[in-house]
Amino acid sequence: MSEKKQKHKELLWSRIKRLKALSNIDPCDKNIKPPVDSILSDHSKLAHNNTYGPLPLFYVDKLVVCRECGTQEVWTAEQQKWWYEIAKGNISSIAVKCRSCRKKNHERKAAARKIHLDGVAKKQKRKKEI
Ligand SMILES: [Zn+2]
Repeated sequence: MSEKKQKHKELLWSRIKRLKALSNIDPCDKNIKPPVDSILSDHSKLAHNNTYGPLPLFYVDKLVVCRECGTQEVWTAEQQKWWYEIAKGNISSIAVKCRSCRKKNHERKAAARKIHLDGVAKKQKRKKEI
């Protein structure tokens, strides 16, 4: 393994270790101070979440183990803020797949959709000919 790769791997491991320590923090707890690199949440943007449960006060990077391939990936605080406050993702939903598996899934769905729509178009064309 090259020195650069080794360094990258070490960096990744130290980040994963830090994230595992952060995973014990409850972002809904009003009595704890938000960690250094967390992002504060905006409850007015979370208003679409019709929940009686507590809303997060901040977002911290989370470690995600992909449900499909088992890869460990970081779901960053910025990505979480985007998901909950801009994309209006449900507050109880979390990332379960890594980026590459999500991308593969999107491509597979797009291909299936194309085949379906091509089939529909063919059928309509045939109908017109009759
Ligand atoms: Zn994956």
